[in-house]
Amino acid sequence: MKESRLEVINLKKYYGKNENIVKAVDGVSLKIENGKFTAIIGTSGSGKSTLLHCMAGLDKPTDGTVILDGKNIYDYNDEELSKIRRKKFGFIFQSFNLIPVINVYDNIILPILLDGSKPDEEYINSIIKAVGLEEQIKKFPNELSGGQQQRVAIARALSNKPAIIFADEPTGNLDSKTTQDVMRLLKNTVKEFNRTLLMITHDQSIAESADKIITISDGKII
Ligand code: ADP
Ligand code: MG
Repeated sequence: MKESRLEVINLKKYYGKNENIVKAVDGVSLKIENGKFTAIIGTSGSGKSTLLHCMAGLDKPTDGTVILDGKNIYDYNDEELSKIRRKKFGFIFQSFNLIPVINVYDNIILPILLDGSKPDEEYINSIIKAVGLEEQIKKFPNELSGGQQQRVAIARALSNKPAIIFADEPTGNLDSKTTQDVMRLLKNTVKEFNRTLLMITHDQSIAESADKIITISDGKII
């Protein structure tokens, strides 16, 4: 099992300068527990997405460190960092970000292909089964419902066996029934495959089902 320890120390991300400065993330320190589901909550504009993006190696912070397995990820060059993202991280966003011109199966294995590796077919099939997409793998994204598309995105996020899954309001575009289905699925798969899940949500009941809740306000943990 690939484990990865993620820690943030005094992280800051500022936009603009002088009187126009926006302190999107303003001195956040935290440790993410392996194999657990951590929820990030907070009002709109509080800095949740910025924090998640900085932690996931997608957005360079103004100051502070993001430590993965003992090393600051922003000490790596761009190429090394994108390799870490491809190998260790999975991503799920509110807009499912599927590729419309390739079928469901190819969307799911895309991170593996981009990494130049060979898909572990047995594992991929177990994920497809876990997310209930066996009947849909030959279809194209626009032939699926929103809930099914988010299932594809979840399967894709798991396909490269990431240690950590970053999710930014993955149920934000789904109705409440589909939200429940997707959350049950996400939590089960994270548990079954022993992954770490870090998820931003607006939904109080989802947050309450997490192992840990982090509340962000004005770029700070409260
Ligand atoms: P949340 O995800 O909690 O809604 P964000 O992290 O998206 O909040 O944004 C936090 C603050 O940073 C907001 O005031 C937002 O307007 C600002 N912000 C986010 N991204 C940028 C950017 N690229 N340029 C300037 N300001 C930004
Ligand atoms: Mg956001």
